[in-house]
Amino acid sequence: MKSYRKEISFNIPTRRGLVNITRDVQNSINESGIKEGIVLVNAMHITASVFINDDESGLHHDFEVWLEKLAPEKPYHQYQHNGFEDNADAHIKRTIMGREVVCAITNGKLDFGPWEQIFYFEFDGKRTKRVLIKIIGE
Ligand code: ZN
Repeated sequence: MKSYRKEISFNIPTRRGLVNITRDVQNSINESGIKEGIVLVNAMHITASVFINDDESGLHHDFEVWLEKLAPEKPYHQYQHNGFEDNADAHIKRTIMGREVVCAITNGKLDFGPWEQIFYFEFDGKRTKRVLIKIIGE
């Protein structure tokens, strides 16, 4: 069995933002040379998510609106976590949207269902953050 590890970085210029990272993940699979296996992709920070869904801008807007209803950014004082920081909503949004995804690799390609794409979802941006890609297989 082979393994391959890579980190990719993001510096989203706004507090929240969503990036399709499917190509980055597929490029890492290509670099690994692994044809049959599993890839794990996880946000390495507790205020960002990695998830799989459709690459459709209306849906991305709907996620933003839905998350703001569940865990509104403001007012900051509604959260006990805030004070030194102001990112309690980002921690909660990260937990709702998830930490990681695991995908099958078949014949060197991401073995996706229809319309599946991998996204990085930033909830407390304006700084550099990392995503871990770990591939195992042969
Ligand atoms: Zn915090």
